[in-house]
Amino acid sequence: MTVLAPPRLAPRYDAVIIGARCAGAATARLLARAGLRVLVADRGRHGTDTLSTHALMRAGVLQLHRWGVLPAIQAAGTPVVRRATFTYGADQLPVPIKPRDGVEGLYAPRRRVLDRVLVDAALAAGAVVEYGLRLIDLLRSLDGRVVGAVLLSEDGRAYRVETPLVIGADGVRSTVAHLVDAPVTRAGHAAAGVVYGYWARLPVDGYRWYFQSGASAGAIPTNDEETCVFAVTPADRFAEVFRGDVAAGYRRVIAEAAPELVERLRAAELRGTFHGFPGLPGYFRRSAGPGWALVGDAGCFKDPITAHGITDALIAAELLATAVVAGSDAALAQYEASRNAMATPIFDVTERIASFAWTLAEVRGLHRTLSEEMAREVTAMAAHNAAGVPA
Ligand SMILES: Cc1cc2nc3c(=O)[nH]c(=O)nc-3n(C[C@H](O)[C@H](O)[C@H](O)COP(=O)(O)OP(=O)(O)OC[C@H]3O[C@@H](n4cnc5c(N)ncnc54)[C@H](O)[C@@H]3O)c2cc1C
Repeated sequence: MTVLAPPRLAPRYDAVIIGARCAGAATARLLARAGLRVLVADRGRHGTDTLSTHALMRAGVLQLHRWGVLPAIQAAGTPVVRRATFTYGADQLPVPIKPRDGVEGLYAPRRRVLDRVLVDAALAAGAVVEYGLRLIDLLRSLDGRVVGAVLLSEDGRAYRVETPLVIGADGVRSTVAHLVDAPVTRAGHAAAGVVYGYWARLPVDGYRWYFQSGASAGAIPTNDEETCVFAVTPADRFAEVFRGDVAAGYRRVIAEAAPELVERLRAAELRGTFHGFPGLPGYFRRSAGPGWALVGDAGCFKDPITAHGITDALIAAELLATAVVAGSDAALAQYEASRNAMATPIFDVTERIASFAWTLAEVRGLHRTLSEEMAREVTAMAAHNAAGVPA
C-alpha cells in the first residue's frame, strides 16, 4: 500500500480525532477553542442519522448550554421536554422537569440535528473536519508510542498524518481501541434489545417511560413534530419477538408495556421504517495510553435502557479536553479515572434495569437511584466546569 502525504490536510496536527459525532465533535470543539490544531476524520457523512434514540438527560443538556449550541438545537425545531412520566404496570409517576441553570428543560434532538450542530460548532472553533476518511492504522515511534494515523479515503488512497495524540471517538467497534489493543477493564452482563420508529400525529407531553415484567417501551418527542416510540425486551427475548415480522413484534411489546399507546399508534402515521438493535452488554475500556485516548462509546458503553450514552459522551468530551490541555500522560490517565468515577454509578444501575430481573416496585426504586445519581452527576460536572477548560 502506498501511503501519501495528505492533499488538503496539513501533515501534522496537535490532535487527530476519529469519529465526528457527539463525542468526537464535542471534544474537537473544546480542543480547537483551546488553541489546538485539530483534525476530525469520519468515514461517514455530515448531518446523517445513526442507530440511536436520543433522549438527553440534564447533565448532557447543561453541557450543550455551556457550549452555546442549544439555540441551534432549538432552532431546528427540537421541542423542550418539561416532564417525564414513568408508568409501572398500572401506576403512573409524573416527574416535572423544572427550568434550571438557564435551561428550560430537556431536549431529544435527532442525531442528524445534534451531531451536525456539534460538528458545525467544531468547524466554527477552527477544527478541520473531513468525511469519507477511515482510520486504518496508527503510526508509532520506536518505543511504541502512537505518533500519527493512516487514513483511507473513499477512492482508496491512504494518507498519513502525524500527531502526538489520536483520540478514538469511533463508537463501540472502535478501530483505535482495536489498534492499541485497549483492554476491557469492566464487562457488563445485562443487555436489552430495542426497536424504534418515528410517528407523526402522536403528540406526547414530555418523555414517557413504561415498564412491565419482561418488556418496556417509551415515547420521546423530537424534531419535525414526530415522536420516537421504542419497544424494549431483554436481549434473549429479542429474536423470538421481532424475527420475521418486526411490526408485529413491536405492536406486541407496546401492548404489553404501554397499552395506552396502542390505540394512539393506530391513529398515528409511521414515518420511515423501524430501526432495531439486538442489545450489547456494557463495558469500560482502558481509555488512555501513550499518544492515544478513547472518548464516548469507544471508551465506555452502557445499555440504552437508561438513555444516558449521549450525555456520557458529552461529559467525557469535557473531561478529556481538560486532560489534553493539561498536556501530560498523567493527565490523560486522570481523565480515565474521572470518567470512570462519573460513569460507574449510572453504569451499575443501568445493568440492573437492563437485566429485567426486577419487580415493578424494584425497578421504581432503581429509577430513584438513577435520578439521585444523575443529580450527583450534574453537581460534579458544575464543579469540573468551573475549574476546567474555557467553554
Ligand atoms: C438503539 C440505541 C438507542 C440509544 N438511545 C439513546 C438515548 O435515547 N439517549 C442517549 O443518550 N444515548 C442513547 N444511545 C447511546 C448513544 O447512541 C451512544 O452513546 C452515542 O452514539 C455515542 O456517541 P459517540 O460519538 O461515542 O459514537 P458514535 O455515535 O457511534 O459515532 C462514532 C463515529 O465514528 C465513526 N467511525 C467509526 N469507525 C471509524 C473509522 N475507522 N474511521 C473513521 N470514522 C470511524 C462512525 O462513522 C461514527 O460517525 C442509544 C444507543 C443505541 C444503540
